[in-house]
Amino acid sequence: MGDPASVLRHTARCSSLDTLDRALTGCRACPRLVAWREEVASVKRAAFRDWVYWGRPVAGFGPADAAMAVVGLAPAAHGANRTGRMFTGDATGDFLFTALHTVGLASQPTSTHVGDGLELRGVRLTAPVHCAPPGNTPTASEAETCRGWLSAELRLLSPRLRVVVVLGGFGWRMLLPALDAAGWRTPRPRPVFGHGAHVVLPATADREALHLLGSYHPSRRNTFTGRLTLPMLVDVLRRAVALAEL
Ligand code: SF4
Repeated sequence: MGDPASVLRHTARCSSLDTLDRALTGCRACPRLVAWREEVASVKRAAFRDWVYWGRPVAGFGPADAAMAVVGLAPAAHGANRTGRMFTGDATGDFLFTALHTVGLASQPTSTHVGDGLELRGVRLTAPVHCAPPGNTPTASEAETCRGWLSAELRLLSPRLRVVVVLGGFGWRMLLPALDAAGWRTPRPRPVFGHGAHVVLPATADREALHLLGSYHPSRRNTFTGRLTLPMLVDVLRRAVALAEL
């Protein structure tokens, strides 16, 4: 598939997360991101020269019946774009998985590669953009194109989903229209992102209420400067676990 409309056509045909994840890994709808993810996978970083980089879109990670989702930004060039698993193989992931393990959602505090034994309980990790962007900055049109994948993922999670933790303002802005497209009613004007923000989307005839919780993104910039500390992220995750009744 190679254009935005084809993303929507393809996701509409996916009736399970397995099918969706497999289809996603073949997506080539954003030419700039396809070129970047493949160039990074070819050139590599010296420390990882022995790795065979994934170099493709990175699917969500976690059980299909998750009551909770964590939405970040996009795969890192030498993290998930190398390992092929969301948030795996970089400092941001180390921070996040330490927090997830602390609250009982991850079987171990580290996430180094596919096959490292890590399992998630009740939570699925995903992103509004599934390919590594240059400078960690997707364009608006790339984010809009990739939104089709996130909407489809949320739709397939909807029977059990009760809480979404959003890491950072970009994810927050991208999530709301994705939830609209997946069938939730989202507020207007848009709620403002902040660390600790809490918004409840009301229950509908066929949906339970959905809680959205905001956290600063565990990027190196935020964690190294102390803007986001481990207790701050653990606190948000503990609230999410309670709301999701995990
Ligand atoms: Fe496809 Fe999303 Fe990657 Fe664009 S960013 S190529 S829509 S998977």
